[in-house]
Amino acid sequence: MAQGPRSIRIGISSCLLGQEVRYDGGHKRDRFLTDVLGSFVEWVPVCPEVESGMGIPRPSVRLVRSGDDVRMIAERTGEDHTRSMRAFSRKRVAALRKLDLAGYVLKRDSPSCGMERVRVYAEGGMPEKKGRGLFAEALIDGMPQLPVEEEGRLNDAVLRENFIERVFAYRRLRDLFRGRWSVGSLVAFHTAHKLQLMSHEPKAYQQLGRLVGEAKGMDRDELRSRYIEAWDDPESPGALPMPLQHLATAEAHQRVRRAALAGSPTAAELTVTPVGQIVGRMNQLRPARQVVAEMVDEYLDTVERMARLMEDTEKGA
Ligand code: SF4
Repeated sequence: MAQGPRSIRIGISSCLLGQEVRYDGGHKRDRFLTDVLGSFVEWVPVCPEVESGMGIPRPSVRLVRSGDDVRMIAERTGEDHTRSMRAFSRKRVAALRKLDLAGYVLKRDSPSCGMERVRVYAEGGMPEKKGRGLFAEALIDGMPQLPVEEEGRLNDAVLRENFIERVFAYRRLRDLFRGRWSVGSLVAFHTAHKLQLMSHEPKAYQQLGRLVGEAKGMDRDELRSRYIEAWDDPESPGALPMPLQHLATAEAHQRVRRAALAGSPTAAELTVTPVGQIVGRMNQLRPARQVVAEMVDEYLDTVERMARLMEDTEKGA
C-alpha cells in the first residue's frame, strides 16, 4: 500500500479489503482493489456497521420504506438502527473531510454502503432497487464533489478508467487550490489539461477558459467545482483511451516538465504521470499481440474523434 505525504488517499468499505467485518464475520475482498489499485493508493477503510457499534456477528439489516422516510431495520429482531447509523455517518463523514480523500469505493447492494439501486422493502411487500445506503447517503451529501464508485461498477473497463481519471484530476485540483494559488498557476493547469477537458466537455472547456480569464479574486470552491463538473458531466463523451490521452497531453506535459526543470515551482506542482489510466487497464493477462492491435484500433478511433471535437469546437468558437 502506498503511503506518505503525497500519497493518494481513497476511502473504502472495509470488507472490500478482506477485513472480516460483515454481519456473518465474512468479507468481500476485491482483488483488483487490493492487489492492483492498492499498490498506488492509501486506503482509508470504514465499516459503518461495526464502527457504529453493531458488532460481529450481528443480525443482517435491510432498508424499509416508512412513509417518506427509509429506515434501517434488523431482519431477525426488528431493531431499528436508523437513528444511530445516521448520527454515526454524519460524524464519520465530518472526520473523513479532514483526511484529504481523493475518492471513495463503496460496497454495492449494502443498506449501509450501497451507492445506488439498494433494495428498499415496502412494509410487508416486495423490494424495489431504488435506495442508497445510509452511510453512502451521508458521504455523498457531505462531500458532493468527491469521486465515488462501487466495486461492482469498477468491473466495467470504461467506468473503472473514468473513476481513476476523476480521482487523479480531483487530487490535482485540490493540490492546485491548496494554500495560496495564483492566476498564473490556474492558467498553467488549464493549459496542461486542455485536450483532456475538451474530450469530456468541449463547451465546458471554453466556459472554463473564460472563467480563468476572470479568476482573480474568485472563490476557490467555485472554481474547483466548475472543473469537477466538467469532468463529471453525465453527458460527457467519457474518458479518452490511453494512447490518445498521451497524444493529447504530451505537448503540454513536455512544456510543464521543461519549466519545472528550469526551476519553476508552479510547473513542478503540475507535473503528472498517467499512472491512473494505466492502473485502470491492469485487469487481466492478455497476449501482447491483442493489446497492440487494440491500441492501433483505439488510436484510429480517437484520432477521428479528436478531429470531430476540434471541428465542433471551431464551429462553436
Ligand atoms: S458493506 Fe459496509 S457496513 Fe457492510 S460489512 Fe462492508 S463495510 Fe461494513
